[in-house]
Amino acid sequence: MSGDEANPFESLQEQIDDAAAYLDVRDDVIDRLKHPERVLELNLSVDMDDGSLGRFTAFRSEFNGDRGPYKGGIRYHPGVTRDEVKALSGWMVYKCAVVDIPYGGGKGGIVIDPSDYSEAEIERVTRSFAEELRPFIGEDTDIPAPDVNTGQREMNWIKDTYETLENTTEPGVVTGKSLEAGGSEGRVEATGRSTMLTAREAFDYLGKEMDGASVAVQGYGNAGHIAAYLIEDLGANIVAVSDSSGAVYAEDGLDARDVKAYKNETGSVTGYPDADEEFANEGLLTLDVDLLVPAALENAIDGDLAPDVEADVIVEAANGPLTPDADDILTDADVHVFPDILANAGGVTVSYFEWVQNRQRFYWTEERVNEELERHIVSAFDDLTTCYEERDVPNFRTAAYVVAIQRVVDAFSDNGNWP
Ligand code: NAD
Repeated sequence: MSGDEANPFESLQEQIDDAAAYLDVRDDVIDRLKHPERVLELNLSVDMDDGSLGRFTAFRSEFNGDRGPYKGGIRYHPGVTRDEVKALSGWMVYKCAVVDIPYGGGKGGIVIDPSDYSEAEIERVTRSFAEELRPFIGEDTDIPAPDVNTGQREMNWIKDTYETLENTTEPGVVTGKSLEAGGSEGRVEATGRSTMLTAREAFDYLGKEMDGASVAVQGYGNAGHIAAYLIEDLGANIVAVSDSSGAVYAEDGLDARDVKAYKNETGSVTGYPDADEEFANEGLLTLDVDLLVPAALENAIDGDLAPDVEADVIVEAANGPLTPDADDILTDADVHVFPDILANAGGVTVSYFEWVQNRQRFYWTEERVNEELERHIVSAFDDLTTCYEERDVPNFRTAAYVVAIQRVVDAFSDNGNWP
């Protein structure tokens, strides 16, 4: 996060205030919901391959546990900050509440560019973090998962470190593991799948046709590329995609799976031979498309860029891709934004299914996972649109927060406060 960018933690707090205006909840209770319960800050000392000692700053924020154990991913990125982790942990609280799964919210991160380190170094960094997290995590307390630049490999290492130190088997201590380590069918696709389901429901709700719709996807990692090919499977044209190297465009549509195969081979989407054009990645965000899917990092669209956005509908696969002032501008311009806490909730929803399967030692088919996911996302979408219509809120994000905050407040009121 550079100095002049919106602070994501302030964005989260503003989103909560916007929704609180439509809720009959005391200010002091809302204030409690705007701050994390606990933030752990660490400096990990790790042996490097060349014999030197590496120092890595790491965070874990446990935002709110009123509805269940803290739940949320771990990000490896040089731009990780304490405020970013706090914001991401808060978004997890409201995401779990909006899809009505029994979790609170947490998030972690390490300030590291993993591409600068060997696999053995990343394993030592991960195990060192897991060792420090051990007193705080557990299947009933705080359950990490993957996020940007982490995946099954890191989750397997965290599980193994935890289980070794605790002398137990507790696969539900983390989710997003490989199948062999206790992962769930359907987990890898889950975030892209909920983005697709949200886009499908949104187009249906707005009376728009998905068949032949033009779609641009910013960010071509786990969330972005899977959302792209599942939306393509609905008959849409993926006209543009981007990653940190830049954007590629084809008027008649790119082949979403083939672009990913090309990126796997070359490391980037740029240079893709069947594209008509290439441009800098900001250009993708202002294309005149039916659907824009930001799937990279937060603050992709700010108040300066928002007036140039020409998409009709935005479905947020990334967390926090729009700043609050961008949100206001897009609301005034009648651009329908379907928020991250619904659209990318597939990841945490299938994490919940993974955790349920781990606890029961009974594993589901991919078909069952996808059916249950669809049921949760469609039901959450209906709750959100009902709130949008009944409470006369300005946009779908506020509707999602109104639904989610009410659920957290209800849990807090029912539990009572320990003085
Ligand atoms: P990833 O690391 O797999 O992919 C990120 C992609 O964004 C990469 O292709 C990268 O090149 C690209 N990117 C980075 N900066 C960019 C820029 N300025 N312009 C265009 N592209 C850029 O990460 P991911 O897991 O796909 O996560 C992406 C977003 O989705 C994050 O906000 C994350 O928090 C959110 N998310 C992911 C999951 C999940 O299960 N993976 C779940 C919920 C939310």
